[in-house]
Amino acid sequence: MNRLARLMIRSKQALLTELRQKGFRMTPQRERVIDIFYDLPAGEHLNAEDLYRLLKSETRDISLATTYRALKLLASVGVLREEELTEDGKFYELARDEEAPHYHLICTTCGLTTEFESPLMLNEATQVATAFGFELKDMQLKLQATCLPDKPDCPNRQSR
Ligand SMILES: [Zn+2]
Ligand SMILES: [Zn+2]
Repeated sequence: MNRLARLMIRSKQALLTELRQKGFRMTPQRERVIDIFYDLPAGEHLNAEDLYRLLKSETRDISLATTYRALKLLASVGVLREEELTEDGKFYELARDEEAPHYHLICTTCGLTTEFESPLMLNEATQVATAFGFELKDMQLKLQATCLPDKPDCPNRQSR
């Protein structure tokens, strides 16, 4: 089981070229949204409100509805991946060219998210799908947990 490095992400230039070839209309706002996701530290995800707040701090001319639409649109063309990580609605991250899906471990107290992949779980899921007559296409898995008291990267860690 390994933590993921963000190696499998297409370069932004390659992505923009691909979108243009598909006839996607790139606006400055959509390009800014893509930029924000490229700048996001590994393991971080944004929901519409997070993104809206970020965009709002840069430009006055944006509404929450426009932000929602931009996210939906970018997810529909495969730029972003949509996941339900917490009760705060859908979260987004850059879609990666990865052979195996990655999963999320989320702390229900501080919200810290760790990504991992697991060939074992993928294998199990493939077998379950096959047993019921399906072909597995994708898998989303969210493990809800709480940070152990001495977890080094927990923002709420008690300093001793
Ligand atoms: Zn993720
Ligand atoms: Zn935590």
